[in-house]
Amino acid sequence: MMIIDHKKVFISICMLFLFMIDTHCHLEQPDYDKDRKEVIKRCRNQLQAVITSCVNPRYFELTLQLVQQYKDFVFATAGIHPSYIKTFSHGKIREYVDWITSNKDSIVAIGETGLDYNWVKETNWRKKQKQLFVRLIEIANQLQLPLVIHSRDATEDAIAVLEQYADEHVQMHMFTNYSCLKRVVDNGWLISVNTLLLRSKGIRKIVRDCPLEQLMLETDSPWLGIGEDGNIKPKDIVRNEPFAVCLVGKKIAEIKKMDIKQVDEQTTDNAVKFFNL
Ligand SMILES: [Zn+2]
Repeated sequence: MMIIDHKKVFISICMLFLFMIDTHCHLEQPDYDKDRKEVIKRCRNQLQAVITSCVNPRYFELTLQLVQQYKDFVFATAGIHPSYIKTFSHGKIREYVDWITSNKDSIVAIGETGLDYNWVKETNWRKKQKQLFVRLIEIANQLQLPLVIHSRDATEDAIAVLEQYADEHVQMHMFTNYSCLKRVVDNGWLISVNTLLLRSKGIRKIVRDCPLEQLMLETDSPWLGIGEDGNIKPKDIVRNEPFAVCLVGKKIAEIKKMDIKQVDEQTTDNAVKFFNL
């Protein structure tokens, strides 16, 4: 496994901008077990904050520890990734929801949650995904926390569910569906953009047409690391790290023909307000 080596080329850019926030990564993943401390130290040198998204109850304990250990730098969200729907019984989900509720002061959002039709094809499981999604939206409403949304091949359905059940604070993580952009923007939701922007025309169009006030930066680390050939690699080949938000910020500035400083300040301000950091 290669560790992402943006450092050589981009460290000078990153060092100039100390305010970026990675609004969506997964520091709890086992990929970081061996050197999590060093990884967090590296992002601490270059970023203002990171928001780690716990996608599975099995990582919640570790996530809470990270929040405590790196207070005011590592923030957390808690949810269940929709692709894990077949793994959890009703009882287990209820237990996890209680656990989240009793730790509400340690988290800044509920998620990721949503719909994933790429990994889940069967109608009955998709129905269960939707039930869990609605349940987690209700928890977010009850705890007055924003929502972090994952939708894959299911954006229209996910938006319909959100419009029906959610309050206004919604982050569309890894949003790729240009035809739904206007609806998302009109709803006042935020879109977070990662390194997929570097190679996707569709996401470039989304960035071009989405107001800067509704954009945030993310990496989805350890996923979406970029190899030496400039392409995105599986995480066991290139492991991504949160400081790669610098690349995303730089690309947004290029697309929007803005100064990177403006992109940095506005997206950071958006994140601070959205997650109430
Ligand atoms: Zn994620």
